[in-house]
Amino acid sequence: MKKKLIVVLIALSAASVLLSGFAIVSVQRSVENLYYLIQLHQAAGLREILLARLEGVQEDLTLKGTRFARNLDALVSHASEMSVALDTCLTCHHSEQVQVRLQTLHDKGETFKLALSRINTVKINATMLREDKDKVFHLGEELIEEVDGMVITTNRKMMKLTRETFDRVNRFRVVLFLLVILAPMMVIGVAVWIFVSFTKPVSSLLKATSRLKEGDLDYRIEGLKDEFGELAGSFNEMSGSLKELIASRAHTEQMALMGEMASRLAHEVKNPITGIKLSIQVVLDEIDLDEEHSDLLMKTLEQIKVIELLMQNLLNFARPPSSHMEMEDLNHVIDNTASAMEIILQRRSHPPEKAGKVVLARDLADGIPMIMADAVHLQQVLLNLMLNAVDAMPKGGTLTVRSFKTPEDGFWRVEVSDTGEGILPEHADRIFNPFFTTKPKGSGLGLAICKRLVEQDGGRISFRNNEGDGTTFCLHIFNDPGNGVRRS
Ligand code: ADP
Repeated sequence: MKKKLIVVLIALSAASVLLSGFAIVSVQRSVENLYYLIQLHQAAGLREILLARLEGVQEDLTLKGTRFARNLDALVSHASEMSVALDTCLTCHHSEQVQVRLQTLHDKGETFKLALSRINTVKINATMLREDKDKVFHLGEELIEEVDGMVITTNRKMMKLTRETFDRVNRFRVVLFLLVILAPMMVIGVAVWIFVSFTKPVSSLLKATSRLKEGDLDYRIEGLKDEFGELAGSFNEMSGSLKELIASRAHTEQMALMGEMASRLAHEVKNPITGIKLSIQVVLDEIDLDEEHSDLLMKTLEQIKVIELLMQNLLNFARPPSSHMEMEDLNHVIDNTASAMEIILQRRSHPPEKAGKVVLARDLADGIPMIMADAVHLQQVLLNLMLNAVDAMPKGGTLTVRSFKTPEDGFWRVEVSDTGEGILPEHADRIFNPFFTTKPKGSGLGLAICKRLVEQDGGRISFRNNEGDGTTFCLHIFNDPGNGVRRS
């Protein structure tokens, strides 16, 4: 917008400078032409006078010796008037070329004048007089012809110059007319353009702010360009972040409420369950039951243990144990957890079940420094991720645990990957929500607790579906003394 405005103003200024320049040059040229025209008029007048004088003298010469001949004084007077006219012509300002021609004419005029005074004053015989008179007459004719030619040339020049001057004045008039008509129109046009360019985006922005005020966080401003486009971009980003913020606040509040409910429920259920468990234990210990009834009570006890575990998970989620951060060897913690997982895997296959074989692979980076971590939390999270990975590979596969340093930010990461079924896109947003599960006997609390523990210890957890099969869960560990500690 700013650029466009500058371009339009420069274009306007350039147009007005050009038109004004043209008008000034036209006026100056017209004035010069008029001045030259006046000079030409003067020269033409002088040449006419010279021609008249020459013709007068020539007439005197023709009449000389006849009864119409003028007296000597008149002849002398005409000759000197011609001489004055020649001198005046010479004093006029002309171009160098014309000046040379006038000088030649002047010299010829002087010769003519001398020859004229000779035939008027010197006594010579009649034959010689006639010969001299003829010569003088021819000289006079030549002069007349030459001056006549000059008069015609001057007149032609005058006509040409007059036409040119008229044309110039006409062009100037058109430019003036355009200036008078177009200038206000251009100014009005630019004013309208500026008005529209500013009011349209401003009203879009106003509309967007009022929609935002009404709570429409999905409203986005479209179609604005330049600085207004940037402003609209920032506005859209702002409403997006606002929406995310509100959603995350709502989620946090929801989680807190859920945690509160879960913890109450766990407490309420815990006492009756303990009572039932003790009663069953007493019946089992003190009454001699047959095998069938004793099996039944044993199964009931096992189911009660499942309920207790669920209650413990609920409590863990609602009030996770506080963190005990210490300097830990990351690879050591991973290795311990992997070993525990290997035992679980061995138990799974002895006695053999329907499940396929899961191979556990370690890919641990060398030279990991000691990092600040809660080893118990870390182990709990890793074990949960590994158990989920095994659940995702009912037909067997490879479970890989990996530690590495990211080249981009220099922080350490731990990844748990499987070659299982992967996570459906429609589940991706929900897997960290409490009670979300796709397993028939799942609680849906594992990942929610993992997320809570990891974030409580200053890390982050994310996941991605692998290019081939399966999923990778990633723990981002920011508590590395070598890199400083960052809370995400
Ligand atoms: P639960 O294991 O009790 O279902 P979790 O919170 O641990 O609860 O997991 C939630 C859901 O996330 C699981 O039911 C499953 O659908 C999905 N999930 C977790 N880990 C994996 C994995 N490695 N591969 C595929 N799906 C997974």
